[in-house]
Amino acid sequence: MIPFHKPYRLDQARHAIEQVLTLGKTEGDGPMTACCQNDISTCLTSKNAAKSNPAEVLMMTSGTHALEAALYAINLDAGDEVILPSFAYPSAANAVILAGGTVVYAEVEPSHLTIDPARIKYHITPHTKAILVVHYGGVSCDMPAIMAIAQTHHLIVIEDCAQSFLSSDHGLFTGTIGHFGCFSFHGTKDIVAGEGGALVINHPDYVKFARQFRQKGTNRDEFAIGQVNFYEWISCGSSYAPSEIAMALLHSQLELSDEIVTSKRALFTRYLAFFRNESGGLSERYQSHLVSTSTSPKYGKANGHLFYLLFHAADQATAFIRYLSDQGIDARTHFVPLHESQFGRQFIRPENDFHVEAGLGQRLVRLPLFAALTFAEQDYILTVADRFLLGEI
Ligand SMILES: *Cc1c(COP(=O)(O)O)cnc(C)c1O
Repeated sequence: MIPFHKPYRLDQARHAIEQVLTLGKTEGDGPMTACCQNDISTCLTSKNAAKSNPAEVLMMTSGTHALEAALYAINLDAGDEVILPSFAYPSAANAVILAGGTVVYAEVEPSHLTIDPARIKYHITPHTKAILVVHYGGVSCDMPAIMAIAQTHHLIVIEDCAQSFLSSDHGLFTGTIGHFGCFSFHGTKDIVAGEGGALVINHPDYVKFARQFRQKGTNRDEFAIGQVNFYEWISCGSSYAPSEIAMALLHSQLELSDEIVTSKRALFTRYLAFFRNESGGLSERYQSHLVSTSTSPKYGKANGHLFYLLFHAADQATAFIRYLSDQGIDARTHFVPLHESQFGRQFIRPENDFHVEAGLGQRLVRLPLFAALTFAEQDYILTVADRFLLGEI
């Protein structure tokens, strides 16, 4: 069976994990956490074409917790609205609600399934406080347009970068453009910690609160560097520091990150070439089944996180997944748009127009794409997919 996803060279982590066990300090904020923080900080700064230094990188227990910490840090009042795409993972909307805000859906544009800046503008009200964008599939949202809107209306921008580590837009890495970047290193992402994440804070005003919030609402970070003699309860907070074991794994993965992203990009490009015609559009041969596929961003570089095929109808997608599975290939659908989910329906407004999102969760199929996938395996996947899509079965 060709799996849908396989983490890359986990064996490389053995030495670092043993180091943690030998040291005997397994709780958070030890040397491995410091290494990861430094790795990410260096990655996002030194390789940025146009330099932009994050004010702070905080390692977190998950991408979900990075989103929560960001939303708590902006201090929402009851009735404050946060605009986010309906085509998002529940964590983004949960974070808004947990932090006391109101969820307002904006629509995505059809070519990359990322939030449409024109629709953000349309949903802004006097209560709008922030925009939460999702770089779906590793393709950056249109950040210059979004930042311009945010500036005009004095809004905070939070980037959900769970799928976009090392993706860029106009020469800037995702997560370094808005006020916050929220990364995930969940076992299903490109670079894994088992469970883990990072909060990148690009504005110094939020650093102190985020640090305290992550440390159970205490000033323990100041205590750790000798700024105070004891630490105490300062504000409301929670416990979001990851284990050193998880950070040892992540550190070893971060050392492989260039290798992982290079390999995934090559595979993404090969998938793309297969489904495109000479002018770059969807090949005519596939138009009876497909609406579109993943495409490369115009002004940036995606990390090759995923490659999807979008079918006209859900039953075609289901039959395709079943056929691939019979041929030993594991392909998957993706998240149900929030407005179509049980809990998420309540946030639909009369202004919403979800014609792009309708049925996305069931019509979209992701093909296997992971760093260790060989070109031969990919060719086999494409041969099988082709047979189905041309109606030869
Ligand atoms: C995976 C994911 C998350 C959640 O990250 P965790 O580390 O699993 O909590 C949030 N948003 C998006 C877009 C994701 O893909």
